[in-house]
Amino acid sequence: MTQHHHPENDDSYASLSVNSGVAQPPSVNPYAARRPKRKPLPTAGELVEGILRGDITMLSRAVTLVESLSPAHQAIAQEVIEKCLPHSGRSRRIGITGVPGAGKSTSIDVFGLHVLRGGGKLAVLAIDPSSERTKGSILGDKTRMEKLSQHPGAFIRPSPSAGSLGGVARKTRETIVLCEAAGYDNIFVETVGVGQSETAVHSMVDFFLLIQLAGTGDELQGIKRGIMEMADGIVINKADGDNIDRARLAQAQFRSALHLFPTPPSGGTPEVLTYSGYFELGITEVWDMIDRYFDFVKENGYFERRRHEQARYWMYETIDAPPLLRGPRPGGTHRHCRTVGAVEPAFAVCGCT
Ligand code: GDP
Repeated sequence: MTQHHHPENDDSYASLSVNSGVAQPPSVNPYAARRPKRKPLPTAGELVEGILRGDITMLSRAVTLVESLSPAHQAIAQEVIEKCLPHSGRSRRIGITGVPGAGKSTSIDVFGLHVLRGGGKLAVLAIDPSSERTKGSILGDKTRMEKLSQHPGAFIRPSPSAGSLGGVARKTRETIVLCEAAGYDNIFVETVGVGQSETAVHSMVDFFLLIQLAGTGDELQGIKRGIMEMADGIVINKADGDNIDRARLAQAQFRSALHLFPTPPSGGTPEVLTYSGYFELGITEVWDMIDRYFDFVKENGYFERRRHEQARYWMYETIDAPPLLRGPRPGGTHRHCRTVGAVEPAFAVCGCT
């Protein structure tokens, strides 16, 4: 048989010469055994004990289990929530909303430090239905709330990044229970003021703060009427420099617009203030307004009534929820109120303790 000459067999193709190689490495990684083993899942009892001690690592691990979709994790999470419930409820829950760019993170940073100056602890949670796509667009970014994130009394947790708005909101609500049990006496729930998530936040907080901007043309146009109606207080940010007059004008416009709305169930018309988060102007005034609101609604009974209604709302919301998000539990009997069902309702939301 004649051998055909191929150019690659020519000496001028020296670069194709085969170097002597190294021996085949062993297929078993000799370093594998030295890797630290994954920490085993803590038991519900250990988590509860850690949370009640205020251990931030245990709190974070419990929140991760709450956010998990795995039925095994959910079973532990629900037990933890159940045991934390008797220790919850003793915080001021404040919702904060505003369109992107309104200055929410700048403001939460200064509001948070202001609150912490009075002592206590602060947890900042978020509801962001878009976070599934953006991997936690709000709060996910490390540069946000720089000062607050370094404060030992602050616990900042981004929005759970999976599930429907209803699922995300429920997890946030359950996280509130855990944070309260861990001694956080101020809870902020942040949301982007563009849509439905406001209703979810409104249904889990005692005070709903709407951050607005001035100087964007016809001030009231961009605001959804529903969001304004839900607000317990409206604050106009960036009232600094050249913007002060415009902020005052917007304040007057909001005040007169609020008079056209029916009196809110709390019995008091929301106040409208101006401030500057960036230059830290008017922060104390904003916080005094919130203090006044709490005094007012605790006095007239609305505070208790609202919490009671919220607990009912969340009970029904959870019963209607798809089972996977709650995780099946054997037996299926609610230990607090003896509600029987194939899937146990989340303890955090039944309000029957
Ligand atoms: P978020 O998207 O609502 O969280 O808004 P950010 O807190 O990220 O703020 C958006 C932009 O507005 C940033 O560039 C801030 O520096 C700026 N900003 C926030 N608060 C103020 C303020 O009080 N005054 C001025 N002039 N700028 C502000």
